[in-house]
Amino acid sequence: MAEITRQMLRDYLHDALPDAELVEVEKALRASPKLRALYKEVIEQEDRGEHTVGAIWRRERVSCPTREQLGGFLLGAGDPELLDYIDFHLALIGCPYCQANLDDLKKVAKSKKR
Ligand SMILES: [Zn+2]
Repeated sequence: MAEITRQMLRDYLHDALPDAELVEVEKALRASPKLRALYKEVIEQEDRGEHTVGAIWRRERVSCPTREQLGGFLLGAGDPELLDYIDFHLALIGCPYCQANLDDLKKVAKSKKR
């Protein structure tokens, strides 16, 4: 696998990578805690710039799981690889869109129990 550079991570963050490289970076991020630390650095750097990470991720919902998938995640049901990805998406990326969606799903689940 080609080495993932800081610039690639920056492009990944801004959704400026070709699809093949995007997949490569995503895989590498999931596999390497060291790379995740570097990615956090890149995010923090970018955060000091004019675009906030939250704004970027709200614009780039392309890699977000669907509401159904989030529902499965809540129940711990479904493809383990997908659940792992959703965990990654929420925990590392801290996607505000999915977090809000998940909070909403939790509320729905609660009201159904009553
Ligand atoms: Zn998301």
